[in-house]
Amino acid sequence: MAERAQALLIGVLFWTGVACPAAAAGKPAVDFQPAYSGNYSPRSGRTIRRVVMHTIEGPLSSGVNTFDSRLPPGEARSAHYLVGFDGTIIQMVRDKDVAWHAVGHNAETIGIEHEGYSRRDGWTEAQLRASAGLVHWLSLEYGFPVDRNHVVSHEELDPRNRDDPGPHFPWDYYLKLARADPAGLTSRGDAVADLAKALGLDPHRPSRPTFKDVPADDPRYPWIEAAALAGLVRGHGDGRFLPDRAMDRGTFAALLQQALGLAPPSGGGGGFPDVPAGHPRAAAIAAADAAGLMVGRADGGFGPDDFLGRADLKAVADRVRARRAGVVEALDWLRRRT
Ligand SMILES: [Zn+2]
Repeated sequence: MAERAQALLIGVLFWTGVACPAAAAGKPAVDFQPAYSGNYSPRSGRTIRRVVMHTIEGPLSSGVNTFDSRLPPGEARSAHYLVGFDGTIIQMVRDKDVAWHAVGHNAETIGIEHEGYSRRDGWTEAQLRASAGLVHWLSLEYGFPVDRNHVVSHEELDPRNRDDPGPHFPWDYYLKLARADPAGLTSRGDAVADLAKALGLDPHRPSRPTFKDVPADDPRYPWIEAAALAGLVRGHGDGRFLPDRAMDRGTFAALLQQALGLAPPSGGGGGFPDVPAGHPRAAAIAAADAAGLMVGRADGGFGPDDFLGRADLKAVADRVRARRAGVVEALDWLRRRT
């Protein structure tokens, strides 16, 4: 491709918010610690068709130790990947080999173990993102869709004997993360902090944090507090803000509408087929669209429940800054004339 055409194409891709596919396809970083050789077998050409989700029923180290051990006959087992609470991914069996994690289903699956217990709600945002990023990559690498037929629980395959990953595993949220590639997404905390900065809010440091999960030593603290002081955010309702959870586009549009006092256009909605008039965010999305602050997707939809990408957040923050600069300029002009 000619250099100029290439530059133009890249510009268009960035402008429309479409991620560059070549940049999105990298395998997440893994720490390879091979399992004991008697705990897995060659895949012998069988196709990888889906992934199976597990919980270790213990800490990450207990999973690693088990799969690295010579186990009594009949108890030998392993998984391809183990994901810790902190987002660490350890690979113990190569994808080209069969790990022994789901009896009767091993030949065509990848097994992912997670630190924690099926009966406890101990899932962390770092763990969910790391695991979902891995599934995102696996789905591209082996060509299966990210849905509940191809990302399955151990319990579904062996309901008599297994109950992992358990009732607390957030399937809908996880699959949305895995479809989007969590590496390119922004979080609620980052989105609110960047918007507060773009709005020119003064950083605010109250003596007692408003949200128990945004402590004073979090770099986003003064900005999330500034947004709370301005009445823009109220948190999750239980004293938490969930700063590391992915930010969705509809919620961000509502935040923009409130922060800038945007009026919805008189003609009603923004004409997005995926935002019907009754959608709870319809007015906010129409207002953010009419103000030129958020743009729709290449397919004509808005994606109100999709997660906000990092590139999209930066583009919006830049537009908010430009809008403020424009307002300041207009005020100066008015002042000079009066
Ligand atoms: Zn399991």
